[in-house]
Amino acid sequence: RESWASDSSDSVISSGSDSDGSLYKVILLGEHGVGKTSLARIFGGVEDGAEAEEAGEGAGGARLPGRSGTGRGGRPGVRVWGDGALTNTVFPPGNTYDRSIVVDGEEASLVVFDIWEQDDSQWLQNHCMKMGDAYIIVYSVTDKVSFEKASELRIQLRRARQTEDIPIILVGNKSDLVRSREVSVDEGRACAVVFDCKFIETSAALHHNVKDLFEGIVRQIRLRKDSKED
Ligand code: GDP
Repeated sequence: RESWASDSSDSVISSGSDSDGSLYKVILLGEHGVGKTSLARIFGGVEDGAEAEEAGEGAGGARLPGRSGTGRGGRPGVRVWGDGALTNTVFPPGNTYDRSIVVDGEEASLVVFDIWEQDDSQWLQNHCMKMGDAYIIVYSVTDKVSFEKASELRIQLRRARQTEDIPIILVGNKSDLVRSREVSVDEGRACAVVFDCKFIETSAALHHNVKDLFEGIVRQIRLRKDSKED
């Protein structure tokens, strides 16, 4: 079971801003159906473990593991992940998830936006490309087209933010669906090298690497912030 806390002794962290007062905006990009909402909901602690796509990998394939103490029975508006050290508020209902997590002993506040597909308006998509402090570009390892789309999104993002060095993580989701894989780990990794971004494979269905993904985003944001301050 994943715990987000690197130090579970500070068990309750208030939702709000980072220690330096910032709230980092993280935008999820990617083709329809790749798992953006599933990843965002796990981050937000609202994943209810309902319906993942059938893994077809035999017993235990894509079944979701325990609910890790989220929801049900918890205090309203405050959800503690796993062994603690993290709370969240979900605002507004739906596509935006605000949460503080402890990474390397320090608290960071993220707002994760799952709004890329909210409507087809060019305005919203342009806005997404401009507003993020960091980006998670998701494809499904079972869908080559979504992988190609991820590259397009990376190019679009580069164009929109030419002079900036923004943290981006390329995510190959649905790694549990072994038998329907169309994109290898090596292809994903190679793509990330070309596009000069980080890479991770996740399974939202198994909650695998999801914590690492969001911690990775925080580390990437901090790295850039620190190098600016030097
Ligand atoms: P979105 O359109 O990118 O937001 O994708 P969703 O999060 O709505 O996911 C689309 C479908 O894929 C849903 O049926 C999810 O349950 C399923 N899904 C998402 N992530 C995974 C995963 O890691 N493994 C499996 N097996 N199914 C997944």
